Amino acid sequence: MNKKVVGKIGKSSKKVIHHKKERAIIRLKNVYKYYFMGEDVTIKAVDGIDIDVYEGDFVSIMGPSGSGKTTSMNLVGSLDVPTEGAIYLDGEDISTLTESELAELRGQKIGFIFQQFNLIPNLTAKENVTLPMTFQGVSATERDEIAEELLEKVGLGERMNFYPNQLSGGQQQRVAIARALANDPEVILADEPTGNLDTKTGDKVMDFLEKLNKEGKTIILVTHDPELAKKHSYKVYHLRDGKVEKITKNKASEKFLNKPHK
Ligand code: ADP
Ligand code: MG
Repeated sequence: MNKKVVGKIGKSSKKVIHHKKERAIIRLKNVYKYYFMGEDVTIKAVDGIDIDVYEGDFVSIMGPSGSGKTTSMNLVGSLDVPTEGAIYLDGEDISTLTESELAELRGQKIGFIFQQFNLIPNLTAKENVTLPMTFQGVSATERDEIAEELLEKVGLGERMNFYPNQLSGGQQQRVAIARALANDPEVILADEPTGNLDTKTGDKVMDFLEKLNKEGKTIILVTHDPELAKKHSYKVYHLRDGKVEKITKNKASEKFLNKPHK
């Protein structure tokens, strides 16, 4: 980014050059998520983290089982509210939004992909993909057109009317990707998207996420697999016990070399 914006201040004819900052789409500032289980038991699932996700980025949230990845992802995707701390979605502090405003913003900005695919079993592939659009006021004809186009894009043009249980795991995950793209979100959040797939099928799903990133989508990948994180993302947040242990940047990434990350 860093586009130069030329403007004028007041009546002075002096030109002032502002350096437009790279845009943070999602920002977590000192965020905590505690579960209070009983008298003396508090589970510190997320224990004071800062995460910044910039436009066009490919970020991984990595860590062992129980380190707080899913909880972080739910916070990043504003599916969950923090015990403490601030979350900004596209510059807006989400704590100032009503539940329905937040749902609308989230529906427009973020597409989700889950390890278990989370397709609705009694809807066809196409119906699963049209579903998120029904909440955003897209007409039925348009919904059908978009769903067909997206299913073609993920290579499932021939299987639009299949039900999830008639599809392989890899195919189901591709339906889920098409569904995540339905409202043309800026950000795709994927929690262990290859966790239930064999390596080859998983690689295909990852290649597809990479392709989407090259097309301009911001991707956040949650994974316990260091290789996967390193291979695909520019920036990796390493979580341990609900804290960011370290942040690594992937210098091998072509894009990273052209684009300084904070
Ligand atoms: P990860 O995705 O890295 O495996 P999670 O974010 O799912 O980790 O969980 C982090 C910690 O928080 C774990 O100890 C888990 O048991 C706990 N936890 C997650 N969700 C809840 C919940 N709803 N109630 C109580 N504890 C939870
Ligand atoms: Mg998890």
